[in-house]
Amino acid sequence: MYTYPGNIHVHSTYSDGSGGVEEIAGDAAAAGLSYVIITDHETLDGLSEESIRHGVVVLVGAELNRLHSHYVALNLEKMIPSNTENPQQVIDRVNEAGGFGFIAHPFEKGSRYLEKGKAYPWKRWPVFRFQGLEIWNYSSHWRGRHPSLLITLYWFFLNRSGAMDGPPREAIQLWDCYNVHNGRVFGIGCSDAHAAPYNLGLFKVRVFPYRYIFSTINTYIVLEEKLSRSFGTAKKQILNALRDGSCYISFDSLHNGREFIYHASCGSSIVRMGGEADSREEEITLHVKAPTGQSQIRLIRNGMLIETCAGPELQYHVRGPGVYRAEAYFCPSRGRPRPWIYSNPIFVR
Ligand SMILES: [Zn+2]
Ligand SMILES: [Zn+2]
Repeated sequence: MYTYPGNIHVHSTYSDGSGGVEEIAGDAAAAGLSYVIITDHETLDGLSEESIRHGVVVLVGAELNRLHSHYVALNLEKMIPSNTENPQQVIDRVNEAGGFGFIAHPFEKGSRYLEKGKAYPWKRWPVFRFQGLEIWNYSSHWRGRHPSLLITLYWFFLNRSGAMDGPPREAIQLWDCYNVHNGRVFGIGCSDAHAAPYNLGLFKVRVFPYRYIFSTINTYIVLEEKLSRSFGTAKKQILNALRDGSCYISFDSLHNGREFIYHASCGSSIVRMGGEADSREEEITLHVKAPTGQSQIRLIRNGMLIETCAGPELQYHVRGPGVYRAEAYFCPSRGRPRPWIYSNPIFVR
């Protein structure tokens, strides 16, 4: 298996981001990413710039809907019109066009210090036939984390990862809920990078520049073969992995997530994240491995914690059907374990 880090949900000058495609690709390369997906608001104008740049596969999708219920749609050749009041129609039209999509920042909360508390959550439930959820969105997380101005300033200037206390609980619960009730909904982690410029007196600063934010919440894809150097093949490999849930989320500011492993072995075959295993046919063992010994692994079945293990490896013999996913917490030398890696589930039927 081969693992590649990438950043999804990035805004460029084609909408309200401050950087062009070339700059974004350069910053993604500097951050060690293998792919980046630019999803500007209601436009696919960047499509003509899709290519491999600085060794990074640059793909273009779109973020549909404006006032609320944002939908990150991938693998589109033509724009799909937004429909904020009926986002199910947007989901269905993306599917009909051969694309797929993720509900963006579904439980976003506003900040009293930004745009008068404006937030862009998903407002029309229930919806169906979408492929995934943004479980953890870096920019959106900051927007909703403001206990007081003083604490926010402390976090922003001195302890940014201190502000990141894991994905919104509602997002995790909703994700588990869809999957336990026979859904196939995959989680991704995104930056929602804008690199927005702000004037500070004589200085102009960018809040969360691309290079910085590409080292925060990333989505790693897991492939059976190496990522191709030919653009067309690499594009298919990345999109298939995201569509099939062969991917996991890592908050890389704590520790690089590249060496994380989660799969099931059933007899002689291996089932990747997003895959299905049949418990009537073979004995199934789940394997989880975190990238460092400074970790705690948690195994979740049908949304309930079933096993916790200190240290980098966990093996679990499956005793019945269920939706199994793994989490890794990073354990600093002092202080509590920090939410770090979220795998996609393996479905045992
Ligand atoms: Zn959005
Ligand atoms: Zn966005």
